[in-house]
Amino acid sequence: MGHRNKEAGIKCGRLHGHTYDVVCTFAFNTMTNGVTMLFSDIDNKVEPIVKQYDHYFLFYEKDPLVDVLRMEGELIKTVPFETSAENMAIWLFKEIKNEAKLPIIKIELSETKSSTVIYEE
Ligand SMILES: [Zn+2]
Repeated sequence: MGHRNKEAGIKCGRLHGHTYDVVCTFAFNTMTNGVTMLFSDIDNKVEPIVKQYDHYFLFYEKDPLVDVLRMEGELIKTVPFETSAENMAIWLFKEIKNEAKLPIIKIELSETKSSTVIYEE
């Protein structure tokens, strides 16, 4: 996904992209026949949330490039916050908790192999 973060210095303020990596931890309270929830069922709920931004540029809705790119017909996505790794992790956590209705307790979001944010409740 492409993005830029104008609040995080010159380097992060330039248009660039990441192959984000996301690891979620869930806490289930019940099991049926030794299974809490099938991994495939979790994937079916989480992947649509993550995939809707795959190969898109994601911009803070107040970024001045939003109007320019939309005027040129670019299909971009916007969110109501700067797209820092921290904000992205919290936002994804809440989407998975509230939209997918999964008992997520922790999310790890990596921009690179050595740049990971962990958010947990
Ligand atoms: Zn970045």
